[in-house]
Amino acid sequence: MPAESAGAAASDPFCSDMAMADTLICRTRHFNLLYDIRPVLPGHVLIVPIRHVAGFSELTPGEFEDLRKLLKRITAVMSREYASKGSYDVIAQVGEYSGGSIRHLHLHFVPRGRDDKYRMRDEALYENIECRTRCLGISFVRAEVKRLRKLFRCAP
Ligand SMILES: [Zn+2]
Repeated sequence: MPAESAGAAASDPFCSDMAMADTLICRTRHFNLLYDIRPVLPGHVLIVPIRHVAGFSELTPGEFEDLRKLLKRITAVMSREYASKGSYDVIAQVGEYSGGSIRHLHLHFVPRGRDDKYRMRDEALYENIECRTRCLGISFVRAEVKRLRKLFRCAP
């Protein structure tokens, strides 16, 4: 990810509607659901509070309830769409020692497959990615976003 010096929008894309425009799948009352711009596997999405918060302790009860509902919906849709049989990783890197580079809370949701060969290594979410997904690039991501927008149809 870009360095802090790259500017506010670059270092915190989750506070920029423009930065999220291509990857936004749906918006609930308190959360954005985005496709990861560099998916580690097909179906790799980000669950991001609309309000800028750094960690879970800052979420309100209303935001937690919205998150619970959205996660439930995501697990159902993704299990079906990516044939993951209910298998998934949910990862959040919070705080300066976590390895995360963006200080706006976000959860990675990655549907897992039987032989997907994806493993996190040394806390670095992106360091062990096989070319087969990254090489699909932005056209793959755009097609996925278009497909998933129809499936989710979130309402605020
Ligand atoms: Zn932010």
